[in-house]
Amino acid sequence: MTTAEMTRATDWLTGAGVRPTRQRTALASLLVGDGNHRHVTAESLFSAVQERGDPVSLATIYNTLRAFCQAGLLHEITVDGSKSYFDTNTGDHPHFYWEDSGLLTDAPADQLKITHIPDAPTGAEIASVDVVIRLRRK
Ligand SMILES: [Zn+2]
Repeated sequence: MTTAEMTRATDWLTGAGVRPTRQRTALASLLVGDGNHRHVTAESLFSAVQERGDPVSLATIYNTLRAFCQAGLLHEITVDGSKSYFDTNTGDHPHFYWEDSGLLTDAPADQLKITHIPDAPTGAEIASVDVVIRLRRK
């Protein structure tokens, strides 16, 4: 982890009121250390951690990703009802889901136009709308 990566990771955590423990900072540096947005799964982040040689368990990664979501640092996108992706870009934007590779990428937000969505049932409000466009190669 370079000093710049460490600084970005620490600022990202403290900016959301999350205490930058050594483990959280290590994971945050893999998520935002290079200053780019990314979509990860717990498994892909676990592979990256193992490549770097950090002793972090998959369970810890799951718990940390959930904590980062609760702090508003990450946006969780669920595909196929079970596969969770975590996005460092928490702004509203649509996604492409590549069915063959399981990759989740950003779709151009300026090309999406939602003209009407169903009213929320009585006693409920719409918390968010996730748009995932599934792709297969021709
Ligand atoms: Zn995204």
